[in-house]
Amino acid sequence: MTKPDDNVSPAPVAAEGDQYHASYRRPLMPGVDTTHQVILYLEDITVEFDGFKALNALTMEIGVGELRCIIGPNGAGKTTMMDVITGKTRPSSGSAFFGQTIDLSKLTEAQIATAGIGRKFQRPTVFEMHTVFENLELALKSDKSVWPTLMAGLSSEQRDRIDATLKLLRLESHSNRVAGLLSHGQKQWLEIGMLLMQEPMLLLLDEPVAGMTDAETERTAELFNELRGKHSLVVVEHDMDFVQSIALDGKVTVLCEGSVLAEGKMHEVQADPRVIEVYLGR
Ligand code: ADP
Ligand code: MG
Repeated sequence: MTKPDDNVSPAPVAAEGDQYHASYRRPLMPGVDTTHQVILYLEDITVEFDGFKALNALTMEIGVGELRCIIGPNGAGKTTMMDVITGKTRPSSGSAFFGQTIDLSKLTEAQIATAGIGRKFQRPTVFEMHTVFENLELALKSDKSVWPTLMAGLSSEQRDRIDATLKLLRLESHSNRVAGLLSHGQKQWLEIGMLLMQEPMLLLLDEPVAGMTDAETERTAELFNELRGKHSLVVVEHDMDFVQSIALDGKVTVLCEGSVLAEGKMHEVQADPRVIEVYLGR
């Protein structure tokens, strides 16, 4: 695997506080260096909880614009992997790099989010009392803005972005409804839209179609296929029909006991006896 270049000086983000422009929440981070077409490197990551290894020397890399599906039995470490990437859990050993030069171990959770890594948790967390439009507006403004901008109206460019996102989410006709009235699936899409307003380079989605109807699941697959290439996506999911419909010709990674058990195209991992044994065959 192409290693992050040790000779490049680390991103100047080690100390908290001093990298922030006086009026912006976004740290003055240099652009993410993707010269090797890799957006994320996980190398030899181990996470121990009281001696139990939730991740065990996990090594993986995600390409720029890739849509990577991650499957594996319960307890395999899928959610823990996302916790490590987002800085919620710190590994006991190993390294995680965003692009060539940004060492995620040196950043806080908030800095990782502002650097361009968005995460969708399993349960939707939208502002139920606000309209769909307002939810997107809040997400847009929480990005780089300060109070004066929050109070100000939207520029026509910002309004266009929200409209385009509503269209992408197929929520145009729900724009003025309060989010609390949406179906479970629609809330999930809205939350994905809120993440998109922040223009993440890498988006992590943990079991996005759990609890969705079949129609909502199909619609979500269409949405992810539209996002493919525009963002790098890491999708953890158990629904194999859904995985099939978004994996297409891309890579699927099978996690088991905190490590990569298999990796390859969907039909390859599906035919792998070890994968059938620990996961698919049951
Ligand atoms: P998955 O998402 O693949 O189902 P998880 O990453 O949630 O798996 O969990 C991996 C293993 O680590 C499980 O055995 C789980 O019980 C354990 N684990 C996860 N988080 C913690 C924690 N905070 N403390 C102790 N054990 C944990
Ligand atoms: Mg999980």
